[in-house]
Amino acid sequence: MSQKLLHNLRVMNPYGDPEYLENAYILIEDGTISSISDVLTADDFSGETIDMGGKTVLPGMINAHTHLYSTLALGMPPPKNTPTNFVEILKEIWWKLDLGLDRESTKASFETGLLDALRNGVTTVIDHHASPNFVNGSLELLANTADKLGINICLCFESSDRNGLDNFQEELQENLNAIAKYTDHPHIEALLGLHASFTLSDESLQKVSDALKEFPETGIHIHVAEDLADEKDAQRKGYASVIQRLDHFGLLTNRALIIHGVFITREDRHTLLKSGCRLIHNPTSNAGNQVGILETEIIESLHAGLGTDGKQNNMLSEVREGALIRSAASDHQVDYLKLLFDHNPEIVNRFFKPTLGHLSPGNQADLVFYDYLPRTEINRDNFIKHLLYGLGKPCDVMTRGEFRLKDNVILNIDEKEVLRQAQVQSRRVWDAMEKI
Ligand SMILES: [Zn+2]
Repeated sequence: MSQKLLHNLRVMNPYGDPEYLENAYILIEDGTISSISDVLTADDFSGETIDMGGKTVLPGMINAHTHLYSTLALGMPPPKNTPTNFVEILKEIWWKLDLGLDRESTKASFETGLLDALRNGVTTVIDHHASPNFVNGSLELLANTADKLGINICLCFESSDRNGLDNFQEELQENLNAIAKYTDHPHIEALLGLHASFTLSDESLQKVSDALKEFPETGIHIHVAEDLADEKDAQRKGYASVIQRLDHFGLLTNRALIIHGVFITREDRHTLLKSGCRLIHNPTSNAGNQVGILETEIIESLHAGLGTDGKQNNMLSEVREGALIRSAASDHQVDYLKLLFDHNPEIVNRFFKPTLGHLSPGNQADLVFYDYLPRTEINRDNFIKHLLYGLGKPCDVMTRGEFRLKDNVILNIDEKEVLRQAQVQSRRVWDAMEKI
């Protein structure tokens, strides 16, 4: 058995047990936390002892919805035609970016997106991928890239009719290949990705429904009612709502992930509660697209998770900004920290074993360390404020009991070379977008 004993730590473990400790020890055995305490209890210890020098440790964070394919959008030229609504934002920006991706630029997007996630303390990513001109093998590339960095990945390809039915068929097959391939993998999980109801015909949803019957252990991952346009499209197709349309095709299983849901109705909420599928809220993306604010009551009753929709990789920023956006627009507040540290672990622990998201015995040893010297008193009653407003970026990240970032240096990968390559690829993608 491989053993590591970390000591001299301050533990911040929101919604976990213990929630806060000073001068703590964490014993890791074969990549799993076996004990966490402020009293040393390792009797027959024969492994490595590591003095963490008083650093603060948090559980590795989970991003419950993102798009790594959009990583190279940072700094890209503005669109030729300025979009004036949500569907135009998709057509003028994101559907051009995804069409511009080939294998090399997709690889650069995955590598740099996941490196940025790691540098922000995110150790588990639920990704919704699109690269319609590079479909076959794209999910394997993502799985391999995440595994090389020690990041747990829940992946899918967002199938859509928007580039033709042959393309849809290829995208559906890419999902099915990944689902079959990673069934028993401890750190890689595959879902069946769908872009959104408004870019899928009834015939395509029927094909998805038939395919899911072969793989009952997985579920769909789809944008729902992000904008009113999605709801209006479902109504034009003869359904009361997007959720009722998905339910009609039997797609709302207890493994399904429903993203956004800004315009879902009370009846929809009832359907979602009954089905057991989970809603993921992305506050900064919704604010950026000016689509509206998801109701507090829906977030709370459905135990929504927290994602960033590709806007950023810093989950603590998403918590802070989500709270501020809501505070400016509504009298009803949401405990965004609970979404991140309680609901997100609940969601991924449907898929991953050993369990993730808490610094508790039995959890995978995914740990994020901060070199933090508080300027005010810190204790178990106020540590949440320090967590939210005091911590900077992590200096060390460990997953599965192994350091991936140590003293601000990424291990086992030449980060500078990856970034140099990504700069070249970003220009190629932006040039390709110009021609679309
Ligand atoms: Zn999204």
